Formats: sequence, structure tokens, C-alpha cells
Amino acid sequence: MLSKDFNDECAVFGIWGDPEASHMTYLGLYALQHRGQESSGIVTLQNHEHTERKGRGLVGDVFSEDDLNDLKGAAAIGHCRYSTTGKALLSNIHPLTARLLSGPLALAHNGNLVNNLSLRQFLKKKGAIFQGSSDTENILHLLAQDPDTNLASCLKRAFLKIQGAYSLVILSHEQLIVARDPHGIRPLVLGKRHWGKNGEFSWVVASETCAFDLIGAEYEREVLPGEMIVIDEKGLKSEIFVDELPEKKQCVFEHVYFSRPDSKVFGLSVYESRKLMGAALAQECPAEADLVIPVPDSGIPSSLGYSKASGIPFELGIIRNHYIGRTFIQPTQSIRSFGVKIKLNPQKEVLGGKRLVVVDDSLVRGTTSKKIIALLRQAGAKEVHFRVACPPTTGPCYYGVDTPVKEDLIASQKTHDEICKYIGADSLGYLSEKALLNAVKPAGTFCAACFNGEYIAFSEMA
Ligand code: AMP
Repeated sequence: MLSKDFNDECAVFGIWGDPEASHMTYLGLYALQHRGQESSGIVTLQNHEHTERKGRGLVGDVFSEDDLNDLKGAAAIGHCRYSTTGKALLSNIHPLTARLLSGPLALAHNGNLVNNLSLRQFLKKKGAIFQGSSDTENILHLLAQDPDTNLASCLKRAFLKIQGAYSLVILSHEQLIVARDPHGIRPLVLGKRHWGKNGEFSWVVASETCAFDLIGAEYEREVLPGEMIVIDEKGLKSEIFVDELPEKKQCVFEHVYFSRPDSKVFGLSVYESRKLMGAALAQECPAEADLVIPVPDSGIPSSLGYSKASGIPFELGIIRNHYIGRTFIQPTQSIRSFGVKIKLNPQKEVLGGKRLVVVDDSLVRGTTSKKIIALLRQAGAKEVHFRVACPPTTGPCYYGVDTPVKEDLIASQKTHDEICKYIGADSLGYLSEKALLNAVKPAGTFCAACFNGEYIAFSEMA
């Protein structure tokens, strides 16, 4: 059963064997903030016991210097969470913690479990008392109901019962365990941070490599689909936890929009793949124009690709204010297009009298592009040819990206011409699915269900 639940868009981080584990986790989460801004948490391990700090808000606001100093120990995990549903319960903030037969445990998850509701019912019938609405809690209850004291064995049995997307970091009283679902839907990377004069290093895991860059860690490799890695005092042990690996179904939207362009995701530079998408878009959807303008920031790499392939000069025609908080006080008298202008300001000097190709990474509801195009025309643009560096988004994501319900996806409700008219463009062009998948081809096979409706066929629950 497909169920959209409350764990969309998250970041995970883990570290083992580091004298500054809590500070490194804080910095890792800081670099991964784009994956979730609602809440954040860190759990550390010292003398077989956990210390935790969690709160609502941005990483920089949740943790104080005192918190990080109180979070003692050489191992830690952390999480940033984004929720779409208003269910911002404190009990949903990761890492989730529990005391099990095998000892204390903390767990952080990126991705969505598609059998969340049926599993929850099944576990409740067996007496499980749920604390929040996070799909991740199912994993804790599966572990709690397993009489084995070997955590890795319990986890492997739990993985056979959960279905969907999961990149997990788990801190027990003696191990850091990381795992990625057999389809490899969400990313997870492994690295090393060398901190000692005598070759000492810590193991690090993160959703994206941009977290490694900030803490000076080296990228080793991806955690493989279906792989579980156990890290403890003895070192690192890896195993594939399924008998037969299904086809990889990595999320293509990570490359389209979600990941940071300075990350390597699924072994591939996001910046490079986005430039390729833009170049292919120029081939597939050319336009007679004077300038190529990105919608900042997400449209910048694909605009560069479009500009280079088409020979049309690139200009920053819209400047973004980077200091927008969640709320701002509105003026009492109305200002034209105030809502969008607070974030994006078009430059009249650049745009006046020009025919523009405007490139964005995706068109989801269509409301943002409609406002942007209106702003560009107010600023004097002569023509606006809107180009989207991915195919029409026609289906919601059940695996951890916050796409709206189908009815709110403009491409599932309107024809190409109707969308063009609705957003007020002179022409509209989308990248084909074939060209998109071609741009990310070196990374293997992908889930593109939000574009083609081909959702992953999960096997029956074990
Ligand atoms: P709209 O078409 O009005 O929904 O806005 C599309 C814009 O939202 C694009 O510029 C994307 O960069 C951005 N976007 C796409 N997907 C998401 C998402 N899942 N969460 C937040 N923003 C997104």
C-alpha cells in the first residue's frame, strides 16, 4: 500500500571514533540543511550511554555551544527533518531513541516507508505503543519485538519487513550501523576524517558529500543499495542484507532539484549532471533569444548548460535575497508582487527590451513561475521563453520527496498549451525523460515515477 507520511526530505549524518563527534555532526547537518529545516537532533555515545539534544528550527538555532559540549563522546548521529503536514510533533524529531533488549538505541532515517500504515496496524495489534506519527517508529517496534540480543541480526530481519526508501544511521551502545534500502532510493555516502598526527581517523556517513567537504572528510564510496555497515571498535564490517538485489531505483529528483550542486550523489557530480540537463534542453527546446536567465539558485547550473550549448549569453537577470526567514511582516498597503519580490528581484538594466530564455530546474505547481514571469515582464522583458530542465511532474513521490498531491501538480491537470498560458510565457519547453536519464546515466538506473508514473513494484512483505 502506498502511503504518504511525514518524513519527507531529510538529512542523516553519522560519525564514529572522532574526538569532536558532536561538533562534526553539527557541521555536517549545517551543510545538509537544505534537506530539511523543520527540526534537528543529535545523539552522542559515551560509556555505552546516549546523550541527546533535539529541537525545532534550523541547525544553527537548535544547538548552542553548551549543547555541543554537553553532547559528549566519540560517536554521534544527527538528523535534519522536513515535514509537510503540520505534524511537527516533538516526538517525531529524529534521532528516535529507545531502550531495547539489546541496549539503548538511537535511529535517524531519510526516506519514506510505503508500508507504514499496514505495518503500524500489524504492530499495534501485537501491543506496540506508538509515540508519534513518523513511519520510522515501525523500525523501533520491529526491533523491540525481536527476542534476539544481537542488534545487527534484528535489523536484518526488520529490513525484510519494511518497504520503501530508507537511508538509516543507527547508534547503539557499542556500534554505529548504517544501511540503505535494496533499491538505493535515497543517497548515503561513506567517508573518513583524518584527525590525528599518527594516522587516526573517524568513519563518517552522510546523505551528501557536501557534508564531508565542510568537515574535511574524504569521500570513500557510496553505501551500496541493500548494504548494512557495522562500525565498532573492531573496525568496519559490511554485508548485503538481501538474498537478491532488485534493480537500482535511485531518485532522479535528487539530481534535478533536491541535492546540493556541490555534492556527488549516486557517485555523480550534481553540478555536472544539471549542466548536461541544461545543454540537452537547449538541443530539444531551442528559442530565439538574447539572454539565458536562471531562476536562482536551483536553475543556475542548467542555465549555464543551456547558454553554452545554445551560444546565447548567460546573465543573472534575477537576484535572490538569501536572508529570507520563515515569516516577515507584510506592509499594510499592497505592493505589486510583494510576496515573490521579497525573495527574487529582477534587474531592469539587464532585462529591459530583451527576449529571454528563463531556465528553472522544475515546474511543480506553476505558481512560482507565473509570479516570476509577471515580474520579468514588469521589468521590461520583451519575450519570455520558459524552459524546464526536467519532464512535466505528473505524479507525487511516495519515497521521501515533498511533491504535492496529484491534483496540485499543474502538469497532471493542464495541457502543455494551457500551462504555457497559465504561467504567462511566450513559449514553454520541458526536457524529455530520455534526455534527463541520459544526463545521469553514468550513475546507473533511476526511479522517475514523478515524471513517468512508473512506481517501484515492491515485493510482498516477508
Ligand atoms: P512551483 O511550480 O510553483 O511549484 O515551483 C517550482 C519551484 O519549486 C522550482 O523552482 C523548484 O526549484 C522548486 N521545487 C521543486 N520541487 C520542490 C520540492 N519538493 N520542495 C520545495 N521546492 C521545490
